[in-house]
Amino acid sequence: MILKNKDITELQKLINNAKNITIATHINPDGDAIGSCCGLYHYLNLLSKNITIIIPNNAPSNLNFLLKNVNHIVFEENVKQAKQTFINSDLIFVMDMNNDNRSGDTMGKTITEMNSNKVLIDHHVNPDKYNVSFSYPDVSSTCEVVFYILKKLSGEKIFNKDIATALYSGISTDTGSFSYSCNHSEVYTAVASLLKTGIKVNKIHNEIFNTYSKNRLHLLGYAISKKLKIFEQQRAAYIYLDKKELDYYHYQPGDLEGVVNYCLKLDGIDFCALLSERDNKIKMSFRSTDEKIDVNKFANKYWNGGGHVMASGGKGFESMNEVREKLEQQIKNMDFISKD
Ligand code: 5GP
Ligand code: MN
Repeated sequence: MILKNKDITELQKLINNAKNITIATHINPDGDAIGSCCGLYHYLNLLSKNITIIIPNNAPSNLNFLLKNVNHIVFEENVKQAKQTFINSDLIFVMDMNNDNRSGDTMGKTITEMNSNKVLIDHHVNPDKYNVSFSYPDVSSTCEVVFYILKKLSGEKIFNKDIATALYSGISTDTGSFSYSCNHSEVYTAVASLLKTGIKVNKIHNEIFNTYSKNRLHLLGYAISKKLKIFEQQRAAYIYLDKKELDYYHYQPGDLEGVVNYCLKLDGIDFCALLSERDNKIKMSFRSTDEKIDVNKFANKYWNGGGHVMASGGKGFESMNEVREKLEQQIKNMDFISKD
């Protein structure tokens, strides 16, 4: 991946001139969001900056090991302090999202209102405009983009175990442990560099992927055995979970991470969705097996969302039954295959 010299020079200048730096990311932060924030944080720490990560809401518990000893604020739990931190910052990094709004309404508005310089580091399509933008939709993860930026800024020797652990975490989660979005050799070269710091891949993998609670594993079993609907003719499937079912399994943030992918394990399924009921909406995830099925477009056109070509998300504001009816009609019409 080739970074523009102009962007790196500008970024270097912004970092040099900043004392208080805030790093922000999207709502329901995932491994790439937390990993990219923490990787950048540990790098900036080496430069003796005053740094705070602000996440909109709590990260799933399996990512907490990354936030240990990292100065961070959960926006929804501490709005006043978070807003003041934004106000005090000379430089704001916007990570793993293509517009401020992905941080949720209140945090998004707060970021937008700030006059400080803002730098975007991301890999989603159609980014908004920022002072400097590192937007690379063809790259596996924001963590991989951060890797190239830090390497360009300070050389490979700058990577330490903290930076490498964080960046490796995001690359491995956003590629489903190197099973998609990683058809380019550079990602493995990047990972090889990170491994030279002495991080243990098996340990990180276990922290992230093998720390299910019993409830989480049982919820997965229930979702697959009882709540999976298959449309063989349309090569589509979806799983739906109501609030009372999530409550029964004591749902915790992150417990549904990866569940949507199980639909694609079925032979003959190319498009799938996961619907889960939240307080005032139905959260939706979409996945496809082929770039020809552009679920970013689908989420954007029909479900108030977006993301990537083969992995996207959205929201439905009707009841679960109404959202299901609408989705089933779209499946029957094969609306997930763009006609334009
Ligand atoms: P997930 O299904 O894992 O929640 O999200 C898959 C991808 O879609 C992620 O890259 C995420 O950033 C994006 N995404 C999820 N929900 C939304 C949404 O409501 N709006 C937009 N623009 N992107 C979303
Ligand atoms: Mn990402």
